[in-house]
Amino acid sequence: MIRKYCPRCRTYSYSASMEKPWLCATCKLDLGDRPILQINQKAEDDPEKENQGSHQDSQPEIQSGFNQ
Ligand SMILES: [Zn+2]
Repeated sequence: MIRKYCPRCRTYSYSASMEKPWLCATCKLDLGDRPILQINQKAEDDPEKENQGSHQDSQPEIQSGFNQ
């Protein structure tokens, strides 16, 4: 399975093959010139970053609440 990223509605369109034309499932934008992504691959212009390695966000809360 492969997918392409639609920059207009910021969603991924999935396909089982590279058949053309490849239109966004949501807004019907032609994604023919978009790079083909693997199912676990993110588009370069996808603003949503996966929070890999950022496990620290709960730690400061615990430390400040412990400060008695
Ligand atoms: Zn779209």
